[in-house]
Amino acid sequence: MVKPYSRPADDEPAWWCVVSSDQILVTEDNDLPFGCLQDMSFPDLNDYTTVFIGELRERSCYLVVADYLDDSFADGSFQSLRALLDTQDLEKFALAGRARQFSDFLSTHRFCGRCGTRMQAVDWELAMHCHQCQHRCYPRVSPCVIVAITRGDRILLAQGKRHKEGMYSILAGFVEAGESLEQALEREVHEEAGITVKNIQYQLSQPWPFPHSLMMGFTAEWAAGDLHIDPHELVTGDWFAFDQLPTIPPHGTIARTLIEKAIGKDSQ
Ligand SMILES: [Zn+2]
Repeated sequence: MVKPYSRPADDEPAWWCVVSSDQILVTEDNDLPFGCLQDMSFPDLNDYTTVFIGELRERSCYLVVADYLDDSFADGSFQSLRALLDTQDLEKFALAGRARQFSDFLSTHRFCGRCGTRMQAVDWELAMHCHQCQHRCYPRVSPCVIVAITRGDRILLAQGKRHKEGMYSILAGFVEAGESLEQALEREVHEEAGITVKNIQYQLSQPWPFPHSLMMGFTAEWAAGDLHIDPHELVTGDWFAFDQLPTIPPHGTIARTLIEKAIGKDSQ
């Protein structure tokens, strides 16, 4: 059983996810700090919430919740989680994402949403509990569908308003309360592109900690309708021939994996 609020022995090597707001402490070479507590240049962790969040390569990993703009950690600098995505180490990125989500959860659940009483951390699972009204909260996960749609030898790619300039990706959207994944997918595709799809196939998922999405990835085929790109959500979009793709998301993202699956490149 996991003891979430535990600390390693001073001489036990461990991974350290020190999270401050939406940033994480990374070393000079964009890695997570690793080492024994006694060798780290950390402040006294008795002043910080420290949570065991799992293992990476048979070593324990701890989240340390730092203050906003905390400058007392000298083992690196606070960066966006995306710095770790750039290193292509997806296991490490996932662990850091977990740390970031837990940190966010702890800092936004100090008081009960039902009765306003200060909440207490549960010592045997990662949850916050209200002893006044028994309300219990867990870290929020927001399901999101993402789909690569093909039409013959072309694939639908669109430029989102928040995408980096010039980058095209596949369609994605949040699942609404009461919807199945398939319904959410069909609604999003219709809203954003004006088309209907068939042959919807689940492929894979990826936690996406910006801030707490779980991306569930599908492939599908165009069924009917002309393309009408929704100007509220997207800048532009079109069908692209498989051998003439624009700039697409980097390796390590579920969007990239789905695009490669859809165009038959994933086994190369
Ligand atoms: Zn309560």
